[in-house]
Amino acid sequence: DCAMSELGGEKGVAGAGDDHPSQLREAIDSGRCFLVYQPIVSLDDGRLVGAEALVRWDHPVHGVLPPDAFIPLAERTGLIVPLGRFVFADACRQFAAWDARHGAAAPAVLNINVSPRELREADYAGFVAETLTLHAVDPARIVLEITESMALTLGPATATLERLRALGLRISLDDFGTGSSTLRLLHDCPVDEVKLDRSFTQAPASPSGEGRPPVAAAVIQLAQALRLHAVAEGVETPEQAEQLRSLGYRSAQGYHFARPVPAAQLTEWMTDRAP
Ligand code: C2E
Ligand code: CA
Ligand code: CA
Ligand code: CA
Repeated sequence: DCAMSELGGEKGVAGAGDDHPSQLREAIDSGRCFLVYQPIVSLDDGRLVGAEALVRWDHPVHGVLPPDAFIPLAERTGLIVPLGRFVFADACRQFAAWDARHGAAAPAVLNINVSPRELREADYAGFVAETLTLHAVDPARIVLEITESMALTLGPATATLERLRALGLRISLDDFGTGSSTLRLLHDCPVDEVKLDRSFTQAPASPSGEGRPPVAAAVIQLAQALRLHAVAEGVETPEQAEQLRSLGYRSAQGYHFARPVPAAQLTEWMTDRAP
């Protein structure tokens, strides 16, 4: 049922850990998996409006591995469940710590990636509720991201999304626009946000469309019509940022603003930019 694993998965380091799922289990238990955070900024004034938590594995032999090198393995073996719980809990812990220390300069929302496999666990919403309570995090400040291709495999787990929304969390469709039934999914899946896939953020403007990148333009119109928040990801140049801003995007992330960084560096980022 995980046939729709992310395109191009396991490209980071050829099959790292593939022969030894136990290595990943051990890494989760011994704290060798950790989170980095990428700022999400306002296109109007560059203000930090949020952050996305992205997992890494500090592998004893291969060094720090990107998620594409081990998430597909985790999904196949079910290790995504304990890994995802670590990610959610650690992200909430960090988020609460930033809030306590930095107040208004801290990110207003935190985006966390989640796999359908996790949503299919009977007690997932319960786990989320408990963890938010433990860290006294307002559910309205958490956005759960599901890739569009993965959301197609949700089936009955769509009900879990409804439960999570009832708790107050928001749901984002990641890599938006890359799926084959985007409109169907918007109709079937309870979502609050779409994240424009970086292939569209970076697409050259079409000469016929007054120099506007066509899919990015269509997606913001769709989002506005459906009253969904839209975030553009993979912004690498000031030109792209300006294009998106003029199309109506309010927030974005990408190397142009900041790369994903360890928590301590995001803390510095906040301190440097404190109002
Ligand atoms: P994603 O959610 O689409 O995350 C964005 C990816 O694009 C990140 O790669 C980020 O480093 C990269 N990126 C950000 N800005 C730019 C840019 O301007 N240009 C380019 N070329 N790339 C940019 P990363 O961290 O390697 O994550 C890859 C994917 O792994 C994520 O894609 C997400 O689907 C998955 N993933 C990451 N963390 C988790 C997790 O905790 N749980 C689950 N289930 N999946 C995760
Ligand atoms: Ca994401
Ligand atoms: Ca994405
Ligand atoms: Ca992706």
